[in-house]
Amino acid sequence: MAIATINPATGETLKTFEPLSEEAIEERIARAARAFAGYRLTTAEQRAGWLSSAADVLEADTPQVAELMTTEMGKTLAAARAEVGKCVKGLRYYAEHGPGMLQPQPRDAAAVGAQEAYVVHQPLGPVLAVMPWNFPLWQTMRFAAPALMAGNVGLLKHASNVPQTALYVEELFSKAGFPADVFQTLLIGASTVERVLRDRRVVAATLTGSAAAGRSVAAVAGDEIKKTVLELGGSDPFIVMPSADLARAAEVGVTSRCQNNGQSCIAAKRFLVHADIAEEFTRLFADKLAALTIGDPTAEDTQIGPLATESGLHDVERYVQDAVEKGATVVVGGKRVDRPGWFYEPTLVTGVTPEMAMYSEEVFGPVAALFTVPDLDEALRIANDHDYGLGSNLWSEDQGERLRFIRDIQSGMSFINGMTTSYPELPFGGIKQSGYGRELTELGMYEFTNAKTVWIG
Ligand code: NDP
Repeated sequence: MAIATINPATGETLKTFEPLSEEAIEERIARAARAFAGYRLTTAEQRAGWLSSAADVLEADTPQVAELMTTEMGKTLAAARAEVGKCVKGLRYYAEHGPGMLQPQPRDAAAVGAQEAYVVHQPLGPVLAVMPWNFPLWQTMRFAAPALMAGNVGLLKHASNVPQTALYVEELFSKAGFPADVFQTLLIGASTVERVLRDRRVVAATLTGSAAAGRSVAAVAGDEIKKTVLELGGSDPFIVMPSADLARAAEVGVTSRCQNNGQSCIAAKRFLVHADIAEEFTRLFADKLAALTIGDPTAEDTQIGPLATESGLHDVERYVQDAVEKGATVVVGGKRVDRPGWFYEPTLVTGVTPEMAMYSEEVFGPVAALFTVPDLDEALRIANDHDYGLGSNLWSEDQGERLRFIRDIQSGMSFINGMTTSYPELPFGGIKQSGYGRELTELGMYEFTNAKTVWIG
């Protein structure tokens, strides 16, 4: 994929970039290693101060950064502004709580025959972050804020379609006053990731994106015995039981499915609805989907903008076509929008069966698959009949159903009567092919630290 800004609302190529040469990559990795030698000696309070400045700089830059993201990947301006706000909060969260998380943690010294025993979390070094375009700022910040707080330095390989957002992140940390080269953006293609990751000076990697990309990075990292965190795809179930507030469930379900123009790993993608209320829920859900305003993502009243890439649009078209050819029913939507750019109608499909690709893969666009189920057992069976296990949602007022759901659903995150969302205060991550490791909270920060045991006799 060429490294370029292509406006998804028009298809127009606005700016192209040359990938870094081998010499430039070598120079930047050397700079990262040198930066780490000094940065690891800074205090947690100093780093918290720089993070706090980064939050202020980013907050002041909100209009420009939001516009840049909308131009590069098509999310609505309102969604882009909300994403910037979330990043500001994330930076402030680690600025406030990071120093406490990095305090030495005393252990029972007497039990181990020591005068003193504790665990201290120390940074690892330059960490490579391979990031996707769907939340170009938030996905990056989710890695960068805790990593920089812990004393690591960052090397960002962002998706090839968001180069200007990627360059902004480097500029942001520099403007915030972090020491030089503590966070660098590498404009490189996917095929160069292996070269960077195999470099001895690069100690670990985190990747958010498709399972295919995760598999490839984890294979190289495994060969090098380097730590990875993977946040991969999801096809989150959204189970609706008869006791639920159906109007609210339908409204939140549409928001969850269509957020970010349908391109979110934690979007609800499979709706499993109890037979007693399936007809009513389907009507409410379909009406709300059909009422969404599709259009220019920079217009304030637009709710659905274009898909980020032309290939993404073709993937979505193929999933729906495949399902229809194999007997599924399109209740609402089902085709691309007749206008320039890569727009696809919010779509509801019923009658999805295991033979259809949509059953077992992730549809990265505003397409919901709705299954009618006789009971919670069947809902859980279908929900778990999937390689992914990222988020999960249940709508129910019944305590017994809630406890069963929490116990039996195979996911990293379970949200009841609400949609899966990421918060700095809650761990974020999945199981199965949705990846491993956690982001956010202290768990996210400790992923890229050496939890050093100290025993003093
Ligand atoms: P990818 O997973 O291909 O891209 C994500 C990042 O990984 C990009 O920086 C990409 O670089 C890089 N990358 C891709 N392949 C490799 C590789 N073999 N080795 C190292 N790095 C790699 O996502 P796409 O944009 O192609 O989307 C494809 C599908 O992935 C979507 O339809 C969706 O299902 C899923 N996806 C899920 C996301 C999530 O949040 N869970 C986010 C994005 C995608 P480059 O851009 O240069 O190719």
